[in-house]
Amino acid sequence: MNIVLLGPPGSGKGTQAKMIAEKYGVVHISTGDILRENVRNGTDLGKEAKTYMDAGKLVPDELLINIIKDRLAKPDVTGGYMLDGYPRTTPQAEAMDKILPELGQKIDVVVNIDVPDDELVKRLSGRRMCKCGVSYHLKFNPPKKEGICDVCGGELYHRDDDKEEAVLNRLEVYKTQTQPLIDYYNKAGIIADINGAGEIPEIFDEIAASLDKL
Ligand code: AMP
Repeated sequence: MNIVLLGPPGSGKGTQAKMIAEKYGVVHISTGDILRENVRNGTDLGKEAKTYMDAGKLVPDELLINIIKDRLAKPDVTGGYMLDGYPRTTPQAEAMDKILPELGQKIDVVVNIDVPDDELVKRLSGRRMCKCGVSYHLKFNPPKKEGICDVCGGELYHRDDDKEEAVLNRLEVYKTQTQPLIDYYNKAGIIADINGAGEIPEIFDEIAASLDKL
């Protein structure tokens, strides 16, 4: 099963992606995580991507298309995967539609998580991350010990792009660049719409119910 997860920043995509990957045994591919790792390691890609990311802007399509092309050609994807954060623009979706048949793959479902804007701003501004990929929220999902990851003991940080101005920018970018993909995949008849405004386990149940139907 190959899944695309679509939803605005703060919709809980990353959290749900981890839960889905665990239950269905698919590989979790987050382009945001791949980019952040490149930034941490100071690679050429990381250096180029960082300014866009810090401002809450999208990294240019050609870089992302190359990332996804390489990632989907790796052998671990044959048991199925979940794309979290890709595609984010129509050219990225079109490029993937060309790449997939060459790899003998297709997308089975696009899970579209919908959350109202005011809720998104609240969630993102309180979010804290660990470099192991786990995320927390100061109010809704705090770590057991302040500032420390429950899973790996690492120090939590506030992503530059989770600060208020960048958050507003990311929401705007989502509306103009990514939302048109809902239409794109609706035309293909593969969208599952999920109400992402509730609690994490309920949202997961709703997603699982639509995946179990496939
Ligand atoms: P995320 O962790 O998915 O919220 O991604 C963090 C940041 O990485 C985004 O705000 C973008 O700057 C960049 N990014 C991740 N995925 C993409 C993509 N598919 N296209 C363009 N930029 C991306």
